[in-house]
Amino acid sequence: MIETPAALFEVTPEQRAVGDLARDIAAREIAPHIAQWDRDHRFPRELFTKLNDAGIMGIIVPERYGGAGSDYLSYALAIEELARVDAGTAVTVSVHAMIASAIARLGNEAQRERYLPQLAASDAIAGFALTEPGAGSDAAALASTARRDGDAYVLNGRKQWCTNGSYAAVTMGMFRTGGDGAHGISAFLIDNELEGIVVERVTEKLGIHTSNTCDLAFDDVRVPASALLGDEGTGLSMALSALTAGRIGIAAQATGILAACLDASVAFAKEREAFGKPIGAFEGVSFKIAQMATDLDAARLLAYRAAALCDSGQPFALAASKAKLFASTAARKHAAEAVQIHGGYGYTTEFPVERYYRDAKITEIYEGTSEIQQVIIARALLGRLA
Ligand SMILES: Cc1cc2nc3c(=O)[nH]c(=O)nc-3n(C[C@H](O)[C@H](O)[C@H](O)COP(=O)(O)OP(=O)(O)OC[C@H]3O[C@@H](n4cnc5c(N)ncnc54)[C@H](O)[C@@H]3O)c2cc1C
Repeated sequence: MIETPAALFEVTPEQRAVGDLARDIAAREIAPHIAQWDRDHRFPRELFTKLNDAGIMGIIVPERYGGAGSDYLSYALAIEELARVDAGTAVTVSVHAMIASAIARLGNEAQRERYLPQLAASDAIAGFALTEPGAGSDAAALASTARRDGDAYVLNGRKQWCTNGSYAAVTMGMFRTGGDGAHGISAFLIDNELEGIVVERVTEKLGIHTSNTCDLAFDDVRVPASALLGDEGTGLSMALSALTAGRIGIAAQATGILAACLDASVAFAKEREAFGKPIGAFEGVSFKIAQMATDLDAARLLAYRAAALCDSGQPFALAASKAKLFASTAARKHAAEAVQIHGGYGYTTEFPVERYYRDAKITEIYEGTSEIQQVIIARALLGRLA
C-alpha cells in the first residue's frame, strides 16, 4: 500500500489556537520548574490537573464524551509545544491521548461511556502495556496470559516499561487468550486499582525524567469479560493500530525537542563570542544551525502531513512511520549539535541542551524503533522481500 501525500494542508486558526494554548501552559506551568523536576526525576502529577482543566488531556476525545473534539493536527501542534519545553510531559500526554483515541475508535459504546469522560475531563491518566521482558519489537512473542473464568478473565504476567504506569487509572493491556503468535493475543481495558496489579519497579532512565516508566506485575487479576477490547484474538492489531496513531505524537515530540535545540542554539550563537566575534559568525556554527532549521521544517511537515492524512480519513500509517523516523533521527542528531554549539557550557546543567540531548534519544526507540519504522516503510515498497 503506497500512500500518496495529501493535498497541501493548512493549519487553521482553530488548530493554531490549540498549539498556542499548549505553548502558554508550558511557558507558565512547566518552564519555571523543569530543571528541578528533571534533576529530581519527578513526575509532576499536579500539572496534569492543570492540563486537564485547559482541555489538553481530552484534546482528541469527541465532544459528546466531554473532550475538546479537536483533530490530530491540533494534537500534534500541542504535543510539539509541550515537548519544546519538556519532552517528558509531552509523552505523558501523548500516551494518554493514544489510549483515549484507541477507546474512541476501537471500543464499544459502553467502554466509550465508561472511560472517555474520565480521560477527557477528570484527573484520570491512561497507560499502555504491550512490552514484556521477552517481547519488544516482536510483540507477537508476548507471554502474559488472560484465562477466561466464567464472566471474567484472569490476567497473569509482567509488563515492562509502561509509560504512566504508576499513575494510570486505566491501562490498555495485551494478553494471550489462546494459541501462539499474533492471533492468540487480546486487548483489555484494565482498571489499575484492581487487586493483583503491582508496580514492581520504577525505571531509571537516561532522559525524559518527568515521564513515569514502570514495570507492572499482574498476579491473578480478575477483570470482567466486558473489559475485552474488540474480539478475542484481535489484540495485537488493536495495539498496532493505537501505536500507528501514537507515532504522530512521537514525531511531534521529536519535532518539539528539535525546535528547542534550534531556539537555544540561535540564542547562544548570537551571544557567545570567540576570537572577537559571536560564534554564529563562523560557518562551522552557522551551517549547523542552518541544517537544524531545515530539518525542523521537514520534521514538522512530515508530522503535520501524517496528522492531516489521519484527520481526513485517508491511510496514514506509512506517513506516520516516515514522520517518526525522520523527526526522531533529526532530534537526536541536532541535540548533539546543539550541545556542540554550546561547547563546554552545553555539557553542563547550566544550559538545557544537555537535557534535550538525553531526551531526544528515546524518540528513536519507543512506539517502534527506527529500524522497525524502516521495516514498515521498506515492506510497503518491497513487500515480503523486506
Ligand atoms: C522510556 C520508555 C518508555 C516506554 N513506554 C512503553 C509503553 O508505554 N508501553 C509499552 O508497551 N512499551 C513501552 N516501551 C517499550 C518500547 O516500546 C520498546 O523498548 C521498543 O519497542 C523496543 O523493544 P525492545 O526494547 O525490546 O528492543 P528489541 O525489540 O529487543 O530490539 C533491540 C534492537 O534490535 C532491533 N531490531 C529488533 N527487531 C528488528 C528487525 N526486525 N529488524 C531490524 N532491527 C530490529 C531494534 O530496532 C533495536 O535496535 C517503552 C520503552 C522505554 C525505554
